Amino acid sequence: MKHKRKPRILIIYTGGTIGMIENSETKALEPFDFTHLIDNVPKIKMLDYVIENIQFDPPLDSSDMNPDCWVQMARAIEDNYDNFDGFVVLHGTDTMAYTASALSFMLENLSKPVIITGSQLPIGEVRTDGEENLITALQIAAATDTKGEPMVQEIAILFENYLWRGNRSTKMSADNFNAFKSNNYPSLAKIGLGIHFNQEALMRRHDNKTLSVHYRMDTNVMFLELHPGITESIFEYLLSTPGIKGIVLRTFGTGNAPTYPWFIRAVKNAVDRGIVIVNVTQCVNGGVHPKRYVSGDRLAAAGTISGNDMTSEAAITKMMYLFGLGLSPEEVRERIEQSLCGELTLSSPAGQYSLRV
Ligand code: ASP
Repeated sequence: MKHKRKPRILIIYTGGTIGMIENSETKALEPFDFTHLIDNVPKIKMLDYVIENIQFDPPLDSSDMNPDCWVQMARAIEDNYDNFDGFVVLHGTDTMAYTASALSFMLENLSKPVIITGSQLPIGEVRTDGEENLITALQIAAATDTKGEPMVQEIAILFENYLWRGNRSTKMSADNFNAFKSNNYPSLAKIGLGIHFNQEALMRRHDNKTLSVHYRMDTNVMFLELHPGITESIFEYLLSTPGIKGIVLRTFGTGNAPTYPWFIRAVKNAVDRGIVIVNVTQCVNGGVHPKRYVSGDRLAAAGTISGNDMTSEAAITKMMYLFGLGLSPEEVRERIEQSLCGELTLSSPAGQYSLRV
């Protein structure tokens, strides 16, 4: 049993609705500083924790997030890793799932909780969901198991009634307080009268590897969304985007795409030019099964890689991470299909995640 002392939590406030305040002239919500946010949650003092904070200057609407911001967050975590038991990142909901996915790849061997949360209503509003989300996130970041080890040893999103694995999450609603969901992976905890952890779903670290942070994210990647009626010239134009190294192709159903000869030829030519194309379904639930239909099979034969049941957010940030490591297209293709930190379901019995080399 570890020595019982006050949990030490670092809050990293990046912005988002949770800390926003209404501009009296335009009535639009604008990011505001951390003092305003904390002053609105006097209950924090009831938690017997040591809480410190770092804030982005200026705080951002999460639509302005980019890999430099992820680097800033990763650096804050690395610099403070040994001094804190857990981390709470306050973040706008719009791109929260991208940040959660990116950080999961960047923070290799993470064994402490990084809980990302925010809110749909600003913390100063009467019906805010921000207060509850912040308090619960702090409690989860401080939670330990019977051996005194952190209960959560990964990046997770806490929102309203659920804790989700970060790189499995997607923003599902622009209205509901339960705004996030992981459609292909169970919740890590359910929040009701108590916080009920799902032990089976939580990632456990059995090795004692030290945290290793990867700061380079290569942004020469993009989404390409299919729709019935996409023309050859538009498709070819997009595949020929200068500098592009990786494409997340958002396909139909179980990973299906048109079988027209021009379409398959265009995909094959792009793959032959060294572009890595990952097939991810547009459906919110389920994954890619290229062998199920001829249309998916042809796409695979043209050289695309199956993204399995990865979210689009995980697929695009995983490519940024893998290209950022300086890997060749062949190496990226190989690693995309592996689960690096629980972001996809492996059909092999080997487990939920394989080790990075
Ligand atoms: N636009 C806001 C943001 O993502 C929305 C939110 O926080 O919910 O920063």
